[in-house]
Amino acid sequence: LETAEIVGVRAQFPILAQTVNGHPLVYLDSAATAQKPERVIAAEGAFYREANAAVHRGAHTLAAEATERYEDARAEVARFLAVDENEVVFTSNATEGLNLIAYALGNASLGMGGDAARPFALGPGDEIVTTELEHHANLIPWQELAARTGATLRHIPVDDEGRLRVDAAAAVITERTRLLALTHVSNVTGVVSPLEQLVPLARAVGALVVLDACQSAPHGVLHPRELDVDLAVFSGHKVYGPTGVGVLYGRAALLDALPPFLFGGSMITTVTLEKAEYLPAPQRFEPGTPRIAQAVGLAEALRFVSEIGMDRIAATEEALGRRLLAGLAGIPGVRVLGGTDPAGRVGLASVVVDGVHAHDAGQFLDDRGIAARVGHHCAQPLHRRLGATASLRLSCGVHTTAAEIDLALQAVAGVRPYFGVAA
Ligand code: PMP
Repeated sequence: LETAEIVGVRAQFPILAQTVNGHPLVYLDSAATAQKPERVIAAEGAFYREANAAVHRGAHTLAAEATERYEDARAEVARFLAVDENEVVFTSNATEGLNLIAYALGNASLGMGGDAARPFALGPGDEIVTTELEHHANLIPWQELAARTGATLRHIPVDDEGRLRVDAAAAVITERTRLLALTHVSNVTGVVSPLEQLVPLARAVGALVVLDACQSAPHGVLHPRELDVDLAVFSGHKVYGPTGVGVLYGRAALLDALPPFLFGGSMITTVTLEKAEYLPAPQRFEPGTPRIAQAVGLAEALRFVSEIGMDRIAATEEALGRRLLAGLAGIPGVRVLGGTDPAGRVGLASVVVDGVHAHDAGQFLDDRGIAARVGHHCAQPLHRRLGATASLRLSCGVHTTAAEIDLALQAVAGVRPYFGVAA
């Protein structure tokens, strides 16, 4: 994107017009949650003003309108992912999507779902593989699933820079592996996972592949079928959509075979006092009144990014990421987690500033109007492995300019002098 186009994109985000601590807001925390363009805010509002009703069950006109808008939203997500509509399940967020998968597999392991679900049952001797750099949302559900089923949890290690060790993966993914769950892009290093090397290892042993696409969905083309994964999740709020809505993609045959996770209305065919029969996907995974307005808002957000072009967004943010990494590499006393090699990364970097706590550095940036994230970014094991308790993360969005990166770099360079840390 040319600067003029980014300026036009920026103008669509009302929140970016404000000043913070006397400085124009420089929002470099899109990896935590993205800001919302006016058209997304308006789409959610329009749903409530024009079409609000419970979906799927009403005989009245509004209910039909609400259902149409909700199902249109699903169709938009399906287009975004290049998959079928019945392969798209709306969840609350990525965390719920990952828990849904873990619980469905846990239920299959308890014998629920009959013959169709039996191939997915886990037990002692089976192994679940994840990695050392996962967000807690893609780690803890697997710890709990392993504990409930007696399966063993194993991890693909990272090297001293925090990059996945493909060379060690073949020893971790074995004939016992039933599931590989990994992130598409690390939310700490911004490094894209080597899926083309790891997924075939899982395929070769017949393991399911679950992709945490939280940090890839906003930054480039995301086509789960091309990536050859069985299941993928992302959060709407990181793709310029509302909070409260996320997406689970699953291969149709797999989703229909897995037992449900939550139970209640809108997911059944027949119910007696003793038992129930469940609808196919996606309804079997969307019990109760769904996130209707939020799904409508998310669809508008996906139209927004798709109109700009996911490939163009990817190229622009990669260039910003290169500028950020090159700048950080030149600042004394600043260590970039994941190293400074810019190849295969999105516009995101986390740093440890020698001698200054990440929270102090974050405060210093905030005083200059720069919004950065500090802490362990829900990846404690990775931080521990890299010998850091916390880091400061800068992450780009579709509205980020090179000038903002330069301001952030200038501010990061000023942290150690300000806190009097000797060079
Ligand atoms: N996975 C990754 C890689 C993430 O970055 C995040 C959000 N920080 C999540 C999972 C969880 O997303 P949410 O909090 O929206 O459920």
